[in-house]
Amino acid sequence: MTEFFVGAHVSAAGGVEHAVERAHELNATAFALFTKNQRQWVGKPLTDDNIERFKANCARLGYTPDQILPHDSYLINLGHPEADKLEKSRAAFLDELQRCEQLGLTRLNFHPGSHLRQISEDDCLKRIAESVNDALSRTHGVTAVIENTAGQGSNLGHRFEHLARIIELVDDKRRVGVCIDTCHAFAAGYDLRTPETFKATFSDFEAIVGFDYLRGMHLNDAKVTLGSRKDRHHSLGQGEIGADAFRMIMQDARFKGVPMVLETVDPSIWQDEIAWLKAQRYGAH
Ligand SMILES: [Zn+2]
Ligand SMILES: [Zn+2]
Repeated sequence: MTEFFVGAHVSAAGGVEHAVERAHELNATAFALFTKNQRQWVGKPLTDDNIERFKANCARLGYTPDQILPHDSYLINLGHPEADKLEKSRAAFLDELQRCEQLGLTRLNFHPGSHLRQISEDDCLKRIAESVNDALSRTHGVTAVIENTAGQGSNLGHRFEHLARIIELVDDKRRVGVCIDTCHAFAAGYDLRTPETFKATFSDFEAIVGFDYLRGMHLNDAKVTLGSRKDRHHSLGQGEIGADAFRMIMQDARFKGVPMVLETVDPSIWQDEIAWLKAQRYGAH
């Protein structure tokens, strides 16, 4: 039976295998992780020992690849307007996908990219799709999961149309999907606070992208107001979005079966936030 999978973006300090244990300590049924230092271009290769322990921990603690959403490095810009920097990003993205393959993981979450005001939006979206096509053609079994963004600076991905355009240009539709970050959506102007606005936002999502492409969620409240185009996460129920949106997600079957992970600002309450999310399922109809 398909379930709701909820967890947090846990640390992989000391080795990716430890991320699994950290998720388990939070009673999480999903988790996200970086498979390398997210602020560096080149990461230490995963060792056979890392890989074996990661897989053994997942098997022992009950995590399947459907419950895990690795995130790529923040440095990567798959739509970079300059050729040499685009190449560097593409090489790093391929490395990220290969790390997922090694770990037996099936999805990689990434931020689409930025045009840096040097090329048009559509040229940038085309570059991003070419980057994805290139990486997918060299790997097997891993889906590229495009995250919506808050639309800070020249970041693309803040409109559902951007996500749809990239999907349209990706050759292998089975290996492309999206992750919706609630804070980013709200900051980009998609309201989620009331049953009416929640319904309207996800009807738009269904019409423009489609829930068939949903491969993950980032559950974050927002420190910033609707449409502010700024990326500032907050703990659930403490920000401008409020608790109701997260209750509505947990009571909506369209969000079943994908990893939903917190990137909220206070890790010391992640266990409570996860327990609260799970509790919202009761009373669901
Ligand atoms: Zn996110
Ligand atoms: Zn964010």
